[in-house]
Amino acid sequence: MCAKLLKEIEQEVTEFLSGLIRINTTNPPGNETPATKYTTRALEKDGFKCEQFESAPGRGNVITRLRGTGEKPSLLLLSHLDVVAANPKEWSVGPFGGVVKDGFVWGRGALDMKSMTAMEVMVMKLLKRNNMKLKGDVILAATADEEKGGEAGTGWLVRNHPEKIRADYVLNEGGGLAIPVNGKNIYTIQTAEKGILWFKVKAKGRPGHSSVPGAADNAIMRMNRVVEKLGNYRSRISLVPIVKQFLNEVAKENKLLQQGVSLLLENPEMGDQVLDMLAQKDKAMAEEIRARLRMTATPTIIHGGVKENIIPSECEAIFDCRMLPGQTTTGALNEMKNLLKDVGLEKLEFETIQANEPSESPSNTPLYEQIVGTLKEFEPNCSVVPILLTGGTDSRFFRNMSSTCYGFQPLRADMPYGEMLKTIHGIDERISIKNLVFGTSVLCDVVEKLMM
Ligand SMILES: [Zn+2]
Repeated sequence: MCAKLLKEIEQEVTEFLSGLIRINTTNPPGNETPATKYTTRALEKDGFKCEQFESAPGRGNVITRLRGTGEKPSLLLLSHLDVVAANPKEWSVGPFGGVVKDGFVWGRGALDMKSMTAMEVMVMKLLKRNNMKLKGDVILAATADEEKGGEAGTGWLVRNHPEKIRADYVLNEGGGLAIPVNGKNIYTIQTAEKGILWFKVKAKGRPGHSSVPGAADNAIMRMNRVVEKLGNYRSRISLVPIVKQFLNEVAKENKLLQQGVSLLLENPEMGDQVLDMLAQKDKAMAEEIRARLRMTATPTIIHGGVKENIIPSECEAIFDCRMLPGQTTTGALNEMKNLLKDVGLEKLEFETIQANEPSESPSNTPLYEQIVGTLKEFEPNCSVVPILLTGGTDSRFFRNMSSTCYGFQPLRADMPYGEMLKTIHGIDERISIKNLVFGTSVLCDVVEKLMM
């Protein structure tokens, strides 16, 4: 079967997405169960049997499966049903109205990631309607709670019902959007994501009257030094293979990057100088690259003091630290503590809030090759690159179970690339109907060919 745009599903996939957006699954609290019921009803129309699991009241997850002969590896089509909050006052349409206009479906979740749920549900239906003789199981799971870390969604399923969602391959969010460079599309496949360490530092001091500052030991002043040290810290640059591959590929198409990238690859220690130069021309791109070259740490919350005239004895700050593949959360925390030796570790307390190790999947797999093959059929002059995500997704739960997991939600930038990214967790999030059809068609072709 050759790759083709499935125009005939346009209305069905659009209506499904519009209806799903109308179910407000803002997390917190999530309340995903109405969305799992809605998804179940849509799948049941085609004769699917769905299983719904609640990790807590209202926190629904839904799973269904098409059985294969077992000759080939199994594949899970994953998505999350929860979304982040949206302020209707900032939007030009209601964020939970599921409005269809100007060729787009508008609303919170249109990109992140109810559109992927819609595409994956459509793929399942097409496989069944066309009576595909699958050689491996294809499983669909739409889950709760990703936007708050996934512990009440995918994390809960993996702990409580691993047999229901374990698969050799997983397709999820985190990649797939084409970067347009000089009229050519570079499609991304997320094969790795950085680790996350959220930690709290409590600076201790001695209280006193602020009219005699010298007599007390001000915890805010101590925290000031902590924030200064960690917030400005530039840890050692480390060029991991996937980032090298990405830079090489993008530089081929981008004149601005060419010189800089070769300089960077030869002398990684000059990375910051090279990127500072690039930043003068393209700040966004330079910072995206910089965050992929090293571990980062940044203060995100600070609390201290209780009254205008009291020198506080405590001040707390929270830091968000992101590690490269190959680094560990323990190593990162030790590195941070080391930096703070001259601030006085005896006056500082550390508490880990969340720690997820970096995760990575190999890119030399039949699934990866099939994605490349399918994209080339749709768009012969495109290129495809693996990317390291600076953020985190539910993929890590599966990589921990040794599944090969890729972030691949196939999309073309049919508005300016930067603007499209800004709508995710931002204002006026929307997806074009063309993209819904394109994404469904690509995914369907990948699954069919992989499983034949
Ligand atoms: Zn998401």
